[in-house]
Amino acid sequence: MVLKLYNTLSRKKEVFKPIHKNKVGMYTCGPTVYWYQHIGNLRSYIFADILKRVLRYDRYKVKHVMNVTDVGHLTSDSDEGEDKIEKAAKKEGKKAQDIANFYWKIFKQDFKKLNIIEPDIWCKATEHIKEQINMIKKIEEKGFTYKTNDGIYFDTSKLKDYGKLVRLKIKDLKAGARIKMGEKKNKTDFALWKFSEKPGIRQQEWNSPWGLGFPGWHIECSAMSSKYLGEQFDIHTGGEDLAPVHHTNEIAQSETAFGKKPWVKYWLHGAFLTFKGEKISKSKGGLYTIEELEEKGFPVLAYRYLVLTAHYKSQLNFTIKNLQNAQNSYERLKSNVLGLKDDGKINKKYLKEFEKAMDDDLDSSQALQVLWALVRDRRAEGKYQTIKKIDSVFGLDLFKLKVSKEIIKLAEERKRFRDKKNWKKSDELRKKINKQGYDISDVADGNFFLSGSRVVMMKNDQTKMPK
Ligand code: AMP
Ligand code: ZN
Repeated sequence: MVLKLYNTLSRKKEVFKPIHKNKVGMYTCGPTVYWYQHIGNLRSYIFADILKRVLRYDRYKVKHVMNVTDVGHLTSDSDEGEDKIEKAAKKEGKKAQDIANFYWKIFKQDFKKLNIIEPDIWCKATEHIKEQINMIKKIEEKGFTYKTNDGIYFDTSKLKDYGKLVRLKIKDLKAGARIKMGEKKNKTDFALWKFSEKPGIRQQEWNSPWGLGFPGWHIECSAMSSKYLGEQFDIHTGGEDLAPVHHTNEIAQSETAFGKKPWVKYWLHGAFLTFKGEKISKSKGGLYTIEELEEKGFPVLAYRYLVLTAHYKSQLNFTIKNLQNAQNSYERLKSNVLGLKDDGKINKKYLKEFEKAMDDDLDSSQALQVLWALVRDRRAEGKYQTIKKIDSVFGLDLFKLKVSKEIIKLAEERKRFRDKKNWKKSDELRKKINKQGYDISDVADGNFFLSGSRVVMMKNDQTKMPK
């Protein structure tokens, strides 16, 4: 099978060929940890996770790096306004690093709940200041920087192909957008290093060859990705909003500093989760957090299922109704799968169709339809093993049965009666367990095995029977 991916850089679906045989270097722009990430942000990470799982499925050894922005991301993308972390720290009366660590921890919990595989390397911007300064020095040596009263800037007019990622029309920009210029020479110029207004006002500031201050938002991704993946690597992902400014500037910095083009071979961007016509969150992102979905009683993986129903490059409009529908389908799918017997076979026809869909620029929506067709096909062989393989990509935990504490207690009680050879009592308890939808089989060493063919997983270990 040949994996094809849509590359924002070329605007084409391209056959994926890594720089080094069988190995893939992949970088994903991570969260700015000043607040909860909402389910829109998390859609972008589910997309990167699916990509990574497909690459692993295709037997590539993937090295995945994700940054944590804990300094330098200002409230406006054009180097104006307050540092988001500093602002949150001030508001909450806490240390900047406590804010960063708190929201990062929640982000990682969200990953776990959503079955998103953690990157091989997490890297925090504040732990890579030296690398960022060294990179700015390189750019400076090549003559692409200048100093203003508030920082060191990248002179984008010196780079012939600036903006190539999104085919930026510099002329239109000049006429249109209202960008506060300050001492900037060009509208698209961006800060590499910002000066502290006065020492001691900011919590996070460092000495540099240019003065006390902090790195601009974009330099961290260039410096850290090259540290862990080399000066050229295979895949860079992020949400679609990052392409025009953040990723464009990452390319400008990296291609200038390293002198290699293209810096990254494949650029992939996930479309937004939108929320038209429904006001659905108390958090300021406008969209729910995972915690809020849980409070409403949704199993978190139903959200992952919802995300899979749309192609990653199509916008997906979030409504509670959509999520409810996804939950119903997910639970139906899961109860079907939990009832399957393993015949040890693989259904090559369906597996091939699944691979074809995923290899076609990760068409998860089509691949889900293949899965449903397999589930519904009464005569199909090898459902169990085939769906196991499919779920290694989907990550929906289709085979995971969560058993409530109450059932486990009953089963243990039954075992105690059995051990005492009280068959009558043990049989009564077996019936009680069966009534709740579980089978119990006794295996070697007096242990037992619980399986449930009609049970769906619910959050907090609560087991609910399907209606
Ligand atoms: P941030 O923490 O703001 O840097 O954003 C983290 C990631 O979420 C970035 O990759 C954004 O592109 C992405 N993102 C932000 N809003 C949405 C949304 N509504 N839908 C999908 N992705 C989003
Ligand atoms: Zn980035």
